[in-house]
Amino acid sequence: MATIIPGQRIAAALCRQVADEAERFRLVHGLSPALAVILLGDHPASEIYVRRKVSECRKAGIRSVEHRLPATTTKRDLLSLIGRLNRDSAIHGILVQLPLPAHIHATGILDAIHPGKDVDGFHPVNTGRLSAGSDGLIPCTPLGCMMLLDTVVDDLSGRHAVVIGKSNIVGKPVAMLLLERECTVTVTHIATQGLPAIVRTADIVVAAAGAPFLVRGDWIKPGAIVIDVGITRIRSSDGRARIVGDCVIEEMDHAAAVTPVPGGVGPMTIACLLSNTLRAARMSVDA
Ligand code: NAD
Repeated sequence: MATIIPGQRIAAALCRQVADEAERFRLVHGLSPALAVILLGDHPASEIYVRRKVSECRKAGIRSVEHRLPATTTKRDLLSLIGRLNRDSAIHGILVQLPLPAHIHATGILDAIHPGKDVDGFHPVNTGRLSAGSDGLIPCTPLGCMMLLDTVVDDLSGRHAVVIGKSNIVGKPVAMLLLERECTVTVTHIATQGLPAIVRTADIVVAAAGAPFLVRGDWIKPGAIVIDVGITRIRSSDGRARIVGDCVIEEMDHAAAVTPVPGGVGPMTIACLLSNTLRAARMSVDA
């Protein structure tokens, strides 16, 4: 029977640790770590994500400041807000909730966030540091994946990791982190030929395709570890909506360990956001 990696519990422990350290930061520096969250428009999923992030911040003693702007906000006004937040020494982290409305390209916006406040780790300075193996703010979901892996394996060195998906948010940064830990990494994507055969050679599989039930049990080598990043909302035959991942974990009893969806990588992403905000706050006082 594969171990189910308890992402929810591991995330809760990380949130508690951040809360303790945030309180110590407040006592020493006289202010709480603070996160500014910018949300444009009323995209329903983004609303839910922002609400969850703000609520977890509150529980961990991280001050959150919400900036809810209409979907018609101009790029110029958004950049001006980011500029103000960059200069505000009481704000340590800035998060722009994606996706942005169609008239604003995310790249120019994310590039405007000060790299030291870029708690999502999407700024080119932070992606550059990640690929150079130097210290920067690391994207939350990949960081969460690595923490989950660390709960079930002592040494990643020499293992073959197959990453499914090559997005800037998950696939590429998780591949960099695995490489840094001396895994042999294969990054696959929608145009990869013979994906099942490649996955069958993996000691570690990180599935981040957003393709429900893509990875079947017979793709998984006995003893492999499976980290399922996928989150897709589907409607069951009884009409009820549910969240599913990229992997059919019910077919993966022969794996060493698997993450559930929901309750695996998802909660870790938010916990890592809190942890990155605390880290950004510490970096601001050390600077
Ligand atoms: P994306 O759409 O930007 O990238 C998907 C990647 O998967 C692409 O590189 C694409 O080539 C590849 N891909 C798609 N279908 C494939 C297939 N059939 N075979 C092989 N490769 C395939 O998505 P993303 O932003 O990287 O997110 C991926 C998934 O992870 C989504 O389900 C998303 O909701 C989820 N996600 C979860 C969290 C979390 O906190 N758990 C965070 C971010 C993203």
